[in-house]
Amino acid sequence: MKTKTTTSILLSLLLTMLPLSIFGQTGPITPSNQANQNTQRTQKPMDDITKWTNKTIMWIGPHQDDEGGSLGTLALLKANGNKIIMLWYTTGNKGSRDSSMTSEKLAQIRKAESENACKEMGITPANDTFIWLGYPDGMLEYVPALELTEKVCRIIRQYHPDAVFSMDPGTTYTRWHKTDHRASAFITVDAARAAAYFLYFPSQYTHEGLQPYTVRDFLFYSTVEPNYKVDVTSVSDKKIRSRAWYVSQFGEGNMKYVGPEPDQTSLNIKLKTNAENTAKGEKVYENFRRLTGSMSF
Ligand SMILES: [Zn+2]
Repeated sequence: MKTKTTTSILLSLLLTMLPLSIFGQTGPITPSNQANQNTQRTQKPMDDITKWTNKTIMWIGPHQDDEGGSLGTLALLKANGNKIIMLWYTTGNKGSRDSSMTSEKLAQIRKAESENACKEMGITPANDTFIWLGYPDGMLEYVPALELTEKVCRIIRQYHPDAVFSMDPGTTYTRWHKTDHRASAFITVDAARAAAYFLYFPSQYTHEGLQPYTVRDFLFYSTVEPNYKVDVTSVSDKKIRSRAWYVSQFGEGNMKYVGPEPDQTSLNIKLKTNAENTAKGEKVYENFRRLTGSMSF
């Protein structure tokens, strides 16, 4: 009888302790607190990236307009003398509702739009590095992941970026993205991981002389979990001019292309509003989920 009671007490104690041993002090694992735990585990203190000088910054994304949300930060980095590398996976050759558009024409238009948008921010193919991988828009998931990962791994090993800007892949579970956004997010972080270990794609080391390289700073854009914002107020007027170049994407131009020149009337209104707002002390920010430190994410 005594043994049974003791066993029963021990069992109760064990059951009481069990949730703690599984879940720790913070309660059940949910995507959000699991994400926080992971972030806390790997995160190093976040310095002010806009103070960086003489570093290499690589922006990677699927389409010619996805860079828009990072261009203010990239412009500040460029102005400080950092080297900027821009890489687009696809040609963007599907993103039009204009029935008279062709894929070939759209690919040319979108390349020019991105170049013009970047130029407004001081980033040009002549002074920086622009890489166009040229895959068809919307089809990135159907390209062999091995092929894409190997290509981007090689580029990371060649350029040694101090920071990589990427579509946000999520932390512990997949967020919704449209097809190329999903693929771009995963391939980029997988390629960065591969780049750090010489046994991934070993011929890049043995035959091409590329050393393993670890990316230590990621700024994930298109994120729903921002933890880092950059004040881009000082370049907010340039950012508005820059965005106006995506004539085939935003506004009426997506239905009926009327470019390449931006609509000056609409642009002037936006510039005037921005000037009024910033004069009142309003700030313009770009938001990222920033991950610094190890590759353990
Ligand atoms: Zn996109």
